[in-house]
Amino acid sequence: MNLHEYQGKEILASFGVRIQRGIVAHNANEAVAAAKELTAETGTGWHVIKAQVHAGGRGKGGGVKLAKNLQEVEEIAESIIGMNLVTPQTSKEGKKVHQVLIAEDVYYPGDSETSEFYMSVLLNRGTGRNMIMYSTEGGMDIEEVAEKTPHLIFTEEIDPAIGLMPFQARRVAFNLGLSGTAFKEMTKFVTALYTAYVESDSSLFEINPVLKTSDDKIMAVDAKVTIDDNALYRRKDYAEMRDLREENPIEVEAKAVGLNYVDLDGNVGCMVNGAGLAMATMDLIKQAGGEPANFLDVGGTADAKRVELAFRIILKDPNVKAILINIFGGIVRCDRVAQGIVDAYKNMGDSIQVPIIVRLQGTNAELAKEIIDNSGLEVHSVIEFQEAADKVQSVL
Ligand code: GDP
Ligand code: MN
Repeated sequence: MNLHEYQGKEILASFGVRIQRGIVAHNANEAVAAAKELTAETGTGWHVIKAQVHAGGRGKGGGVKLAKNLQEVEEIAESIIGMNLVTPQTSKEGKKVHQVLIAEDVYYPGDSETSEFYMSVLLNRGTGRNMIMYSTEGGMDIEEVAEKTPHLIFTEEIDPAIGLMPFQARRVAFNLGLSGTAFKEMTKFVTALYTAYVESDSSLFEINPVLKTSDDKIMAVDAKVTIDDNALYRRKDYAEMRDLREENPIEVEAKAVGLNYVDLDGNVGCMVNGAGLAMATMDLIKQAGGEPANFLDVGGTADAKRVELAFRIILKDPNVKAILINIFGGIVRCDRVAQGIVDAYKNMGDSIQVPIIVRLQGTNAELAKEIIDNSGLEVHSVIEFQEAADKVQSVL
């Protein structure tokens, strides 16, 4: 589950990670009130107005702006709230901005003593360990840094049994070229950040930039936080932070009925039981010259009701030109699934306008094929994987 910057920062702060202070606002009036409150608290007269959407690169898209007085706060908030923000990480249509973060300006004017760093905490799947990835080249596109100057990206791997060792935190500060107070502040920052990552059940922290202020404070100016969905059952307070407006509406609907659905860009809808089979099926579609339109795992119980739900979800995607159902009848018998498909198809009447290819393999596969072939419906039944691929190719 992805969070907004302001929510991520709240979590960081709760673990003692220093952050750029900010207050969320939903309209221009709230923005001005927030700015006044921040001025009272921090003494800052300047504020940054930051669009809160689930996408990076907001600065480049005009979603992060500096206001030098309350009138500018009002004007900028007015213009950003409600806009469709287009950034290098959004679609062409962009993302609608419902709220902004009013933050204290921490880049003191005319100041050359600040530095921006990059820092993330994530799992290295290759070694099975968490790692801190960091760079002196903060504030910009880290993919570009990785491509052009890979030697400026450092990693620190953490032993899960021991946790982050003090020497490791010092190495981070050293590699970032810090000394004196800033060095000490950075070791504190990294230590608190790593604790926050582990304790919050996160799967990604990306702080870009981490700022060194001219008075040697180290703080998170941005925060991209992803919480592990599998931990949300014990993180009710975080689960409540979910902003469904930021998520794909079809995926949200599928989740509500217990289907594991991921929207993709292709033209062949897939209905499969089991994630491994789903992956293999997507490969099969590609080999046949198609592109998967989605990943949909109906799970263990592929009865008529679930199959119908799955059909309805898949058909919401207007790009779908064919549907491939690839189900392995292990626990569930193929003839049951076949009957489910036929019933669902009949229930849905005219709403299915695309060819359907069904591959049922496993217990009672032959019987299942008979049920489908005798149903009189526009459904092509196959048993072998290759036949399914050929069929997909022929209908595209
Ligand atoms: P992103 O573009 O979505 O990654 O959003 P960020 O939160 O990283 O903000 C983009 C850029 O805005 C940062 O890299 C900073 O250069 C700038 N920025 C953020 N906070 C401040 C601030 O307090 N003062 C000034 N002058 N610039 C800021
Ligand atoms: Mn950023």
